[in-house]
Amino acid sequence: MELNLKDSVSKVKGVGPKKKELLSHLHIETVEDLLGFFPRKYEDRSQVTSIMEAPFDRDVLICGKVVSRKSSASAYNRKVPLRILVEDNTGSVELVFFNAKYLQNYFLVGQEYVLFGKITLNYGRRQMAHPEFHKLGDKDDVRGILPVYPLTEGITQNQMRSWQMAVKDAAEQVEEWLPNHVVMDNHLCSPAYAIRNIHFPTDTQKVKESRYRMVFEELLVLQTGLFYIKKGRSSQAEGVSIPKTVSVEPFLKQLPFDLTPGQKKVWDEIEQDLAAHKPMNRLVQGDVGSGKTAVAELAMYKAVKGGYQAVMMAPTELLAKQHLASLRRDLEPLGLHVELLSSGTRGKERTRILDELERGKIDVLVGTHAIIQPDVRFRKLGIVITDEQHRFGVNQRALLTEKGQNPNVLVMTATPIPRTLAVILFGDLDISVIDTMPTGRKPIRTYLRYNDARKKVYDFLASQVAEGRQCYVVAPLIEESENLDCRSAEELYEEISKGYPKLRVGLVHGGMKQDEKDAVMEKFAAGAIDILVSTVVIEVGIDVANATVMVIENCERFGLAQLHQLRGRVGRSDKQSHCILICGKETEVAAKRNELMVNSTDGFTIAEEDLKLRGPGEIFGTRQHGLPELNIADLVKHVDILDQVKDVAKDILEEDPYLRDPDNQVLRDKVKKMFGENIQLQL
Ligand code: ADP
Ligand code: MG
Repeated sequence: MELNLKDSVSKVKGVGPKKKELLSHLHIETVEDLLGFFPRKYEDRSQVTSIMEAPFDRDVLICGKVVSRKSSASAYNRKVPLRILVEDNTGSVELVFFNAKYLQNYFLVGQEYVLFGKITLNYGRRQMAHPEFHKLGDKDDVRGILPVYPLTEGITQNQMRSWQMAVKDAAEQVEEWLPNHVVMDNHLCSPAYAIRNIHFPTDTQKVKESRYRMVFEELLVLQTGLFYIKKGRSSQAEGVSIPKTVSVEPFLKQLPFDLTPGQKKVWDEIEQDLAAHKPMNRLVQGDVGSGKTAVAELAMYKAVKGGYQAVMMAPTELLAKQHLASLRRDLEPLGLHVELLSSGTRGKERTRILDELERGKIDVLVGTHAIIQPDVRFRKLGIVITDEQHRFGVNQRALLTEKGQNPNVLVMTATPIPRTLAVILFGDLDISVIDTMPTGRKPIRTYLRYNDARKKVYDFLASQVAEGRQCYVVAPLIEESENLDCRSAEELYEEISKGYPKLRVGLVHGGMKQDEKDAVMEKFAAGAIDILVSTVVIEVGIDVANATVMVIENCERFGLAQLHQLRGRVGRSDKQSHCILICGKETEVAAKRNELMVNSTDGFTIAEEDLKLRGPGEIFGTRQHGLPELNIADLVKHVDILDQVKDVAKDILEEDPYLRDPDNQVLRDKVKKMFGENIQLQL
C-alpha cells in the first residue's frame, strides 16, 4: 500500500493502538514524523572478521560454513542446548542456542551463514551464544550499518527499523524546499536522499552528507525563528541615546570602592553604546563576585540622569529583593526613586506602582518576570537589564524590550557561554567580560571529603562561628527520601541543631512560602543565624560577606556550574573562605568533577569542562533558554554550520521579513512547528 507523508502512523504495518500511543510520546504522529525521527548513532556491522582474529566478548560479524550439528538429546528435554559448529578458513566456533528446537532444521551442514554476536572462550573453546544470523545469500538483515534510535520503553530497535523500512518509499515524496541557490552554495543533497541515507545507510560518507543537510536545515529553521522574534530590534533602528556629557561622577563618588580594571573597561564599552544612536545590545559576562551589579547600577543611573526610566529583571524574588536593597542604598541618596514589582506585589500597592511608573514618577523598577505583564507601562523606558539571563526565555526578553521604543539592553550573566552559542541565544549582541575580581579577596580553598568526615566538618563550622563567621550547608533534597540515597536539608538541620545546641541554625528550602524564606534569609543577612541549611534556593546572587564556609552535601548530584555558583556565595570579603564538597557516591565522572572543583576557581575553565563532561543539551537546556528542542543539530558540535546558516537566514528575512512569499511557506511552517507558542508569525 502506498503511504502518504501526512498519513497517521497507525497505517504503518505493525503499528497498533498501543505502539501508536508509545510513538506519540516521541512526538511521532504521522509518516512524515516517523521519517523525521533520526537515529542517534549507528552500529557498524559492515566488516566481516575471521573467526580466529575476532576479539572476545565484543560484538563481531563472522561468516562461516556449518560443519556439524548436535541436536537436543531428547525432544522433550528443552534444557539441552542446540550446538552447531561453524568454521571459516581460519578456525571454528560453536554456536549455542537454548530453548531453540525450532532452529534445529534451519542450520544445514555445508551451508554458509552470516552471524553477529559475541565470541567467548569457554574451556579453550570458542563459543557464540544466541547470535543474530541469516543464510548467506538470503535477504540480508544482519549485515550492514544499522541505525540505533533513541527509543522509549516498549519499542525495540528492530521494531523501529522495520517501521522505517515500511515507510521508506514515502521519503521520495519529501520535496526540496530550500531556495536553489542555498542548495547550490552549500552543496546540500536533497531531503529525500538525506532521509533515505540517514535511516538506511550504505556507506558512512553518504551518512555524513545526509546529516549535514538535515542539520543545516534544522539550524536554518531555528535561526530564522530567532531572527524573526528579534527583528524589531534590527540594528538600523533609531534608539535611545544618552550623551557622554551626562556625568556619573556623583554615583562613583558615593560608591564605597573604586571600580576594578575589568569593571572600568566594561563600563567604557557600555557608555559608548549608550551614547550611540542605535540601541545597545550587550551581554556582560563576569564570574560570580566580579561585581556586575555595580556596572548595572552605573548604567541605570546614567539612563535616569539622561531623562529615562530603567528596569531590571531578576530570575527570583529573593534576588529581586536583594537588588532592591542595594539599588535603594546606592541610588536613593542621589535622588532616584526605586520600586519593586513582583508577583507578591498586589492590590493598592500594585496600582500605585503601575500608576507612578506610567507617569514617570518611578525612575528604576526592579522585579521578577511579573514586570512583563501587559498592564505594566513605562513613560520613557531607556534601558532594560536582565540579571542571570540564562534563566529567561527568548520571548520574555523580547516582551520586556517592547515596553520601550528600542530601549538599550544589557544582559548580565555569570555563566560563561561560548561566543557562538551566545549569538544564537541572544542574537547579534556585543559581549563584554569583567575579567578581574575586586582586590583584597583571598582565593577560596576547596576540599573534598566523604561521609565519614562529617563530624569533623561540623566541628570546623563551629570553630568558624566561634570566630564570628557564618556558614552555608547545602543539600540536594528538602526532606528524606526512601528511594534516593542522599542527604536532605531537613535531616541536616536536625542533626546540626541537636549536635551543636549553641549554634543558631536556620533552614530554608524551595518548599517554603516566599515570606518564610525571605524572613530566614534576612535573619542570616543580619547575622542572627550562624549556619544556614538550605537547598539550592540560595544558588544565585545572595551576597552575605561575613559568610566564609560553604558545605555542599552529595556534591555529585549538582552540576559543575551550579557548584561553582554555590561556592561563589563565599569569598566575598578579605577573610579566608572555604568550600567543602562532601561526596556521597564517587563515580568516574564525579571523580573528574571533584578534581576540577578542587583545583580550579575559574568559572570559564569550569564551564568548558562541564560542556565536555555533560554536553550542551544539559547545560544550555532548552527549558532554561526557551530555545526549542532540536532533533539532529547540536549547538556546540555544529557551530561552523551555524555560522553559514546565519547569513542565509538573514538574507531570507531581509527579502521577506514576514515570510509571506509562497516560496517560503515550508520554512514558515517549519518555524511555526519548531517554536510553537513562542512565536507569533504575522500574516
Ligand atoms: P556578581 O558579579 O556576582 O553579581 P556582585 O555585584 O554581587 O557580584 O558583587 C560582589 C561583591 O563585591 C559585592 O559585595 C560588591 O559590593 C563587591 N564589589 C563590587 N565591585 C567591587 C570593587 N570594585 N571593589 C570592591 N568590592 C566590590
Ligand atoms: Mg549578581
